Amino acid sequence: MSRFEGWLVGHVAGRVTRLVLGMAAGAAAGRVVGWPVVGTVVGGLLAGAWVTLRDARRAARLADWLHGPTDRPAPRERGFWGELAYRAERLLRRRERAIEAERERLRQFLSGIEASPNGVLLLDAEGHIEWCNGVAAQHFGLDPQRDLQQRATNLIRAPAFVSALQEGAFDEPVTLPGAADRGTLHVLIRSYGAGMKLVLSQDITERERAEAMRRDFVANVSHEIRTPLTVLAGFIETLAHLPLSETERHRVLALMQQQTTRMQALVADLLTLAQLEGSPRPAGDHWLAVRGLLDTVRADALALSGGRHRIEFTGGADAEVAGNEHELLSAFGNLLTNAIRYTPEGGRIIASWSWRDDGSACFEVEDTGIGIAREHIARITERFYRVDGSRSRETGGTGLGLAIVKHVLQRHGGEVLVESELGKGSTFRLVLPALRVRRRAASNEPLAA
Ligand code: ADP
Repeated sequence: MSRFEGWLVGHVAGRVTRLVLGMAAGAAAGRVVGWPVVGTVVGGLLAGAWVTLRDARRAARLADWLHGPTDRPAPRERGFWGELAYRAERLLRRRERAIEAERERLRQFLSGIEASPNGVLLLDAEGHIEWCNGVAAQHFGLDPQRDLQQRATNLIRAPAFVSALQEGAFDEPVTLPGAADRGTLHVLIRSYGAGMKLVLSQDITERERAEAMRRDFVANVSHEIRTPLTVLAGFIETLAHLPLSETERHRVLALMQQQTTRMQALVADLLTLAQLEGSPRPAGDHWLAVRGLLDTVRADALALSGGRHRIEFTGGADAEVAGNEHELLSAFGNLLTNAIRYTPEGGRIIASWSWRDDGSACFEVEDTGIGIAREHIARITERFYRVDGSRSRETGGTGLGLAIVKHVLQRHGGEVLVESELGKGSTFRLVLPALRVRRRAASNEPLAA
């Protein structure tokens, strides 16, 4: 016999005992007045009614508790009813704990999906939105609360999405514009359960942009190489088939040399860019004397200018920079080369190193050259962007110089700032962060001439 059956038997026995006691008491009282049988029946009836009433009251309290809010404690009774209430309450609390644990698991599961970098949208069999994460809401321009239970195709109207959903064509992902026509989405639909659908969205705007940039880059490189190659092929043809005088031959060879040098410069810049993209960031604890870097670029600048410009260098004797020497020389050198190439003879070029209040430092090259019109300034650090293609090529430009400078600065945590006025001159600033620059004891030696 189980414990509960024991309680039940005890309960019934208690009731029968009370009944018998009631009947006995009734019989005793009946005997006093000479009606023992009537007394027994009345005593039994009264005891039965009392027992039934008490049980009914306890049952009512239990039923009342079961119907009401379950956060109240169960009625405390003795005996059978107490055991029943205790068991019901234990069962209820166990259920509540199980439901709470399930809820918690669901919450964790949903917050896991919420953290996904992709959009997740759950649709019921009729295509109504059951749930969506924040990313999907952003991708499709939905309100994660207000738009629940709305038909998805009423809110996401891109024809590719609507027809894929209606035709059940879920094999191929669909590409559609993002909310408010911003960016491009890659959307994958999968059905699950009883006709329900899982919609996964991914923002591929960046990927598409990178792909377009790669295509442009390849097209630009091909174009840049094809032009000198075509010229070279023409000269070879001329040399092979035309009887040229010695002077003409020399002139043709000089022009061929020029084209070859141009291709070499282009390939060198392309290799530099590839190297910059493929190598880890320069170490932050490899300190270089700024003065040494400036001496080198100054010597190169003087040689390139050949005395056609006034070139001045100031500051930097007390500075050190943490980074890659080759890259920094290339960035500083490119600015000076440009200043010389885009400043007519007699112009002035000032290269200076200065400290800024926040501990960062700035290498600045200012020239009195041709300047850059405002509309070009934002784009001149793009690969192959030239304001004046023929001038750039004439002076040996590849169109990659400033792209290299920008890349080098980004790798050192810095930035390139440009100020320019057409016909007046330009100032290029390379700002290096405080973490990568420091002062050292200044040397008294003048910068090398
Ligand atoms: P390029 O090899 O053509 O000089 P860059 O990337 O170095 O390529 O420069 C991009 C463009 O920016 C140049 O074609 C030129 O039009 C402009 N530019 C760069 N530096 C200067 C400067 N100091 N003065 C005027 N224009 C400049």
